[in-house]
Amino acid sequence: MARTVEPGEPRGIVESTPLTRLLSARRAKEFSDLKGIETVGDLLEYRPKGYLDQGELSDFRSLTVGEQATVIAKVLEAHLVKMRSRRGSLFTATLGDGRGGRLKVTFFKPFGHVDKLRPGVRAVFNGVVSEFNRERQLTHPDYALLEEEDGDSGLARYLGYLLPIYVESGPLRSSLIRSAMMVCLDATNIAEPVPAEMYAGRGLIGHREALWAVQRPATHAEKERGLKRLRYDEALTLQVIMAQRRRRAAAVATPPVTERGDGILAAFDARLPFQLTDGQRAVAAEIAGDLMAGSAMQRLLQGEVGSGKTVVALRAMLAAVDAGRQAALLAPTEVLAAQHFRSITTLLGDLAMGGLFGGASEGTTVVLLTGSQSTASRRQALAHVASGAAGIVIGTHALIQRKVDFADLGLVVVDEQHRFGVEQRDALRDKADAPPHTLVMTATPIPRTVAMTVFGDLDVSTLRDIPRGRQPISTHVVDESLPGWVDRTWARTAEEVRRGHQVFVVCPKIGDECADSAAAEEEAEWLDPQGGEVTEGRMSRPEARGVYAVAADLQSRPALAGLRIAILHGRLDSETRDATMRAFTAGEIDILVATTVIEVGVDVPNATMMIVIDADRFGVSQLHQLRGRVGRGAAAGLCLLATRSTDERTRSRLDAVAATADGFELAQLDLEQRREGDILGARQSGRSSSLRFLRITHRDDEEIIAWAREDAHAIVAADPDLTAYPALRERVATRLDAEQAAYLERG
Ligand code: ADP
Ligand code: MG
Repeated sequence: MARTVEPGEPRGIVESTPLTRLLSARRAKEFSDLKGIETVGDLLEYRPKGYLDQGELSDFRSLTVGEQATVIAKVLEAHLVKMRSRRGSLFTATLGDGRGGRLKVTFFKPFGHVDKLRPGVRAVFNGVVSEFNRERQLTHPDYALLEEEDGDSGLARYLGYLLPIYVESGPLRSSLIRSAMMVCLDATNIAEPVPAEMYAGRGLIGHREALWAVQRPATHAEKERGLKRLRYDEALTLQVIMAQRRRRAAAVATPPVTERGDGILAAFDARLPFQLTDGQRAVAAEIAGDLMAGSAMQRLLQGEVGSGKTVVALRAMLAAVDAGRQAALLAPTEVLAAQHFRSITTLLGDLAMGGLFGGASEGTTVVLLTGSQSTASRRQALAHVASGAAGIVIGTHALIQRKVDFADLGLVVVDEQHRFGVEQRDALRDKADAPPHTLVMTATPIPRTVAMTVFGDLDVSTLRDIPRGRQPISTHVVDESLPGWVDRTWARTAEEVRRGHQVFVVCPKIGDECADSAAAEEEAEWLDPQGGEVTEGRMSRPEARGVYAVAADLQSRPALAGLRIAILHGRLDSETRDATMRAFTAGEIDILVATTVIEVGVDVPNATMMIVIDADRFGVSQLHQLRGRVGRGAAAGLCLLATRSTDERTRSRLDAVAATADGFELAQLDLEQRREGDILGARQSGRSSSLRFLRITHRDDEEIIAWAREDAHAIVAADPDLTAYPALRERVATRLDAEQAAYLERG
């Protein structure tokens, strides 16, 4: 994707210049193939993995066998050894780290080494660490003498500076990357993306200075200043893209939806059996403002499970219906779509029977549309959607299929953003003549750094308080290796049921129907779609238990004899699933053994206890989400996290969930344990478009992102096409190209 420099263009070497202009074709191809580095700018922003202080020797204790290591060491001894088996001799040297550590290097062709590696000299060595006869070695190392001022090692330029070390691949050793870097730094006319007042006002150094500071810093403090500026640059590019997106969206007219005092919304408010919380009222006002604005609402509504998002979203949908338009609610799974359908029709009561005998005059029709419903009911639902008779349409991805025609789609509510890609949202938006208003709801709290970066093109509303009457949930970790705990857990379960309550048992996988309690081999198909579960190797842990195995185990326990136990998971057909959920809601089932299909939205106030089996298999946020299913009624909730893991980090993760009820704090913890790519998700995946400097999982970078956001808004407001900012415009274009390419690669 190299941009070619037009022949005769007077700019010389700039950041967009292909590397082939400065390096040999072969070397440039290595950079391209091995590291995705195409341009001079790509290389200049290739981040060192670490730095060596040339004034210090490296600590050998940190080396591991098999690693490609770079160390600064002193030669302690050097010998020419005559070989017995053939003619000639080999050369060995022993390196020291000044702390008693030893490392041996051997060269089978002594020529050239004897003069250089004399006892007492210091050098940078680079090679693979191995072990032979209980002695550690560096095999086939490269080295460069440090004190040699003018040698041909390429180190001269780094004299007195920290030595950057890069991730090495094939022939691209650190030394080689360093010399290519110096060539590029010297030759390139590095452009400054923003005016000096702007970065200086933030206490940041210039862009060119920052590249030098990162690629060849004199001190660690200088390197940090450089990194900070490059983080800002990266954040600024992202924020400019978002600001431009928002601007474009705001420029497209969408019919406003204005609340009126006499329609279905007013009727609904009058019948609501509770008062909206202050938070709900504030968010409702934000939404009402968006809906009236004349361009499409783009809002993210985040709030803990049970914070009352659905009610707020429903009010927006009713406002759309009052305006004579349709509202669609997208859920990530069929179970959730069906659940939404039930709770919304219940909340609406006779208002959901518009046009029917007995329905209220202001009423509308609510339809459910899922992939698995019968052809007949689907056809009928589709007809209602197309004619406009259905004011509210609830469904899964099936909603965004081409066959679905809306009469006049005015509002799209997306439940649980994390499971939806932007593309899917866009596809639904394409179904309307003008872009519909969009409200995205998420129960997974999104830390500010992520909200600003990944969801930066959305306005964010947050519901912080839980409506009065919600019960606290106490959470405990149950260590299954301690004797008696398992029995006590199930005795406690039986007691809960005797008190008239219901219990969820959540398992990490479905498992095999015919298996007894020894679980099957099958890999969990659902396992944390967000990639939250990355902390522990699979090898060392006990086999995860599935729904069938656990249900069979419970059925055989005398403590639970006579209790009504049922199972629920995503492989059951939708009728069975619906029937089971209905029976559970009606109190006809005591213990529901399920997968995470119950994770979001399932609302059964009488369920007061949850046991999570193999809780170590779940991400932090996911556990928090799961336990939100209990304590939704009048009685307090109890959540037990059962685990057989002995891994310390795993245990501390579970302890953290038990210790805090603050979803935002847990989301931060979760985030820190994941890889950036998982969080950027569909938006910015792909090698070329991933972030190099900015750490959106770090609270430390929150300030930088906030600065960049502010500055991007100011820039785009004054100069939407960035005519006065050629370097910034170039960076934005490059990033958009990379995103586009990544999107196409994914198909
Ligand atoms: P969320 O969608 O955020 O998980 P819901 O909107 O489903 O939350 O609300 C959870 C429960 O709380 C529902 O039973 C709902 O009827 C109830 N609820 C919502 N708002 C209030 C309120 N202001 N006062 C009392 N109960 C409320
Ligand atoms: Mg809900």
